[in-house]
Amino acid sequence: MLGKNPVRKREPGDGTRLQVTEIFHSLQGEGPYAGRPALFIRLTGCNLRCWWCDTQWNDETDPYLPIEDIARTARDLAPATTALAVITGGEPVRQALHGLLPALHGHGFRAQIETAGTLWQDCLAAPYVDIVVSPKTPRIHPEIHDRARAFKYVTRVGDIGADGLPARATQAAGGKAAVARPRPGAPVYLSPCDEFDEARNRANRRAVAETALAHGYTAGVQLHKVFDLP
Ligand code: SF4
Repeated sequence: MLGKNPVRKREPGDGTRLQVTEIFHSLQGEGPYAGRPALFIRLTGCNLRCWWCDTQWNDETDPYLPIEDIARTARDLAPATTALAVITGGEPVRQALHGLLPALHGHGFRAQIETAGTLWQDCLAAPYVDIVVSPKTPRIHPEIHDRARAFKYVTRVGDIGADGLPARATQAAGGKAAVARPRPGAPVYLSPCDEFDEARNRANRRAVAETALAHGYTAGVQLHKVFDLP
């Protein structure tokens, strides 16, 4: 897709049905839960359009599913030993999550929200929810900034600022506005940008390692790709 997704506005909704692209069981590839078995719920649509975005979804045909069906499917797909549900997208906070999060909790899951951080809902403050933010814009919502368990950044050669974090905008190739910086003291995770070019990818991995060593961040790779998992 690479930056061709339709920009979708926030859908307030009543929280009883959500548009879902896919639900699957895999290993968490990045961030504080990297390597841990997780149930993934990919919600449809994003309010941003990053020029290098490779997320796949189909706005036309993705179904709106009742939240209890989503939670039950999640539990059926994942063995009882999987206690983590990752809500991702797209931008998952675009749709109303106040029904889904307690439903997942009722089925034995802790939820991790993977967000770009521009949107907020009060249900994200629940004690069984972790927020992992990967900023794509110069500003993120103050509640996300204050509450995120971890900040994640995609590293790409040619786009690294003096602090080791992305120096350019993500919404247009070459734009100058840097993405939002982490909360002081919060854990920061780096992963290499996948540019579908092995030479570029190798350089990006090297940049992740060097940047982590220089600045004290945590280096990672997209583990699910290493293991050929979805
Ligand atoms: S915020 Fe994430 S899902 Fe949305 S366009 Fe950017 S990379 Fe893609």
